Parts: sequence; structure tokens; C-alpha cells
Amino acid sequence: MTTQQTSPAPPPRAHLASVPVYIPGKSAAAAMAEHGIAAAVKLASNEVPFGPLPGVAEAVLAAIAETYRYADHDSDELAEAFAATLGLTRDRVAVGPGSVGLLQQLTLAYAGPDDEVVYPWPSFIAYPQFSGVVAAARVVVPLRRFSIDVDAVLQAITPRTRIIFIANPNNPISGAIRRAELERLLDEAPADCLVVVDEAYREFVTGADVPDALDYLADHPNLVVLRTYSKAYGMAGMRVGFLIGDPVVVGAVYATMIPFAVNGPAQAAAMVAMTQGAEVRRRCSIIVDERERVAQVLRRSGLGVPASQANFWWLPSGGRSGELAVALEQRGVVVRPFPTGIRVTVGLPEENAAFLGALAAVRTAVPDITDDWGLPTGERAALTADLLDALVVGHPDDAAAIESRRSAMLDAVGEAAPDITGDLPERALDRLVALVAELGDDDWASIDAVDPSLLAVSPWSTSGR
Ligand code: PMP
Repeated sequence: MTTQQTSPAPPPRAHLASVPVYIPGKSAAAAMAEHGIAAAVKLASNEVPFGPLPGVAEAVLAAIAETYRYADHDSDELAEAFAATLGLTRDRVAVGPGSVGLLQQLTLAYAGPDDEVVYPWPSFIAYPQFSGVVAAARVVVPLRRFSIDVDAVLQAITPRTRIIFIANPNNPISGAIRRAELERLLDEAPADCLVVVDEAYREFVTGADVPDALDYLADHPNLVVLRTYSKAYGMAGMRVGFLIGDPVVVGAVYATMIPFAVNGPAQAAAMVAMTQGAEVRRRCSIIVDERERVAQVLRRSGLGVPASQANFWWLPSGGRSGELAVALEQRGVVVRPFPTGIRVTVGLPEENAAFLGALAAVRTAVPDITDDWGLPTGERAALTADLLDALVVGHPDDAAAIESRRSAMLDAVGEAAPDITGDLPERALDRLVALVAELGDDDWASIDAVDPSLLAVSPWSTSGR
């Protein structure tokens, strides 16, 4: 008998070794099997929990009858209808297999080994993944606390920069850039560099000052906007996304698409979903109400939660986030761990209650998990929360008033510093400053008037209530 020597499989291109691989959120079923538990809720993939929109399942079933034939390669009817909803011509819209498919196509079309791609970080993993695949140099701009630093993004641009990726709202950290920041970015970015504004979570935005990038399309041929039907439209598993941009960009994106990337049932589903705007808004408002309600519950319990403009919370739980995620999973709540925090998708009220219950249990079981994440605790936390609540009531929209309110609050926090350095860890102050700094212009825009007596009283004083 002869033994046959097999050679190893050919190695892939060497640069791929440094490219991050997409890691999907764990399913509830996988968590149940892994931990031997009878039930679990999945809050790990930023899906919306209401099932398909009315008429979508029927449209998919009907379209299955045609799946023995190839579907429309470039989703013409869908692109035309979507463009019409935005008052645009068809040649400004590309339809792709999820917005992530379009991101890949765009990167293939615009960047290669001699080029640079700039993106803030942490952000969506597809940006390093796809720019890594095309061997472009990845230029990473760290967030400033929880916010995208637009000035640092501008400073990172060189003559080799071909693409800037901005997720707005950002993922996994839930904040958003403001109108003036986007305008500065668009005005100052060179014309030969694409500014890609990825608005996967646009439908959850409530901040009056968070820009809709589509408003800037007419004046900026280098602006590209991405939208998706995976989130608010409830079609994550169908894979339909939209790219809106200059016809030249749209043409390039179709040139790099695999044939028939968007299947027929997905196209049919999207045609129906598009007619369900009122229902989408109703569902999003439930999610937004839950987002704000649960964030307040968390803050009152002493945990700092950055403002969210999306359908998830970023919980800055620090270096032990992986452990925290496993502990929550063992209690039936699947969240998404990252190196410096966990991301939790806003669910139905009962799912959010399960999350809060599991978190409370974990905090008792692993108390120091909150070391990196806590606001001042106890009475001081309640006072802090009251102060923040007082700040976010009201409604003027006056930039100067907003700015003076912001400085007054930051000054008040600064003046209180000596009060707390004695018996609270320094990072507690840091966390509170971060939370205040994180309040976006939209929050400040909604501040009617801060009761000066609130600002005069140290938020940490235990006798102030
Ligand atoms: N962009 C961002 C910022 C995202 O968070 C996601 C989903 N995680 C996507 C794009 C991709 O969404 P899809 O491909 O399902 O449209």
C-alpha cells in the first residue's frame, strides 16, 4: 500500500492575515445550547423585534414562485421606486445585498494598495474589513470619549485618501455627529475623496441637530449615503440596502456587484416595505421611547450610558466586557461584547426588562464589573441623574443659549471637583464630565432653562435633596 503525500492548500494573499473578520451576533438558540438554559433573548444584532412589516411575508411567498429564474440583476424597479421616495432620479441609487454589500462594492471600486481609507474607531467592522481586503492603508481616528472627532478625521486626510467612512449614528458607540460637523467635513474634505455617510440607523434619530446627509447630496458629488432595510424596516435576513450618490459612483458600485446579488423575494419584500412608512415610524417610536426610558433607569442606578441616537445602547463596561457579556448570556440575555464595552440592542419592553434584571443580578454577582462604568453611586448618582433630567427638559433652538448652558454645566462639574476627590475615585468625576460632554446639541437644544439653583448646588452634595 502506498501512502500519498498531500500538499497543503495554497495560502491566501498574505495581507489578509491582518484583516478583521466579521463576527456575527450570537443567536438565542446558540446561547441556549451553550449555557444549557431554556430561554434567551437576542439583543446582539441591532434588529428590530416586531417581525416583518404588513404584506412583506406574503410578497416573499408570492415571489418564491419565480425563483427558478434569475431576478432583475440591478433591482431596477426597486431602485426607481426608492429614488422616487427621495425625489431623486433612478441613476442616483444603487440597490445591493444589504448596505454592507454596497460598502464592499464601493471599497472595491475606489480603493486599492496605494490608497488610504480613513474611519473613526470604534465603528462598524466592515470599514477595516473591506479596506483591509483591498490592501488599502487603514487610517484609524480614535473617538473623542464617545464621539466622532471630525477635526481629527479632517487632519488624517492626505493626498492618498480615497474614502472616509462615517457611521451616523455610529455603531457600536451610539452617538451621532451634528449638522455643523458634517458641513465642516463636507466643505473641507477634498473633492477627489469619497465621504461615505452610513445611515443604517437613520430612522431612530430624534435629535433635531443630527443631519440627514441626503440634504447635502446636490452640492457634493463626493458624498455617498447608505441606507438599509435591515434595521427599522425589519428585513435584516432579506439583505436589501441602498446607496445614494452621484451617478458616476452608482455606476462604479454596480460594476463591482456580483451578478444577481439581490434575490427576487428580497426585491419584492422591499417594494412592499417601502409602502409601510407610517408603520415603520410607529415601531421606531416604540423603540426610541424604550431607548430613553431604559437609559434613565441605568443612569439612576449609577451606570453612565452615553446618549443614543440609534436602536442600541453602548455600555462602557471597560476591560471586563467579555466576562460581563457571558454572565448576561448565562442569565438568558445575549448582548454584543467589544473590547471596551458591550452593545445592547433596544428590544421589546419585556426583553429590556429581562436585560435590566440580568444586569442587576450580574452586578451583585460580579460587583467590580462596574468599576470602569459607574457614575457616582447611591444618593450622589440620584442627584446627578436629577440634574441631568433637569437639563434635558424644554425646547429652545438657539445655538448661543445652548453653548452657554453647556459651559455652565461643565463649570459646575469642574467646581464640584474638590468636593469629590476626597472620597470618590477620580474617574467618577471623569465619567460625569464625559456624560455631560456627551449630551449632543439636540439634547442641549431641548433645554428650556436650567434652574440656576440646580447649578449652584453641587450635584454630589448629599444634603441637597
Ligand atoms: N452600517 C452600519 C453602521 C451597521 O451597523 C450595519 C449593521 N450592523 C450595516 C451598515 C449593515 O447593515 P446591512 O448590511 O444589514 O444593511
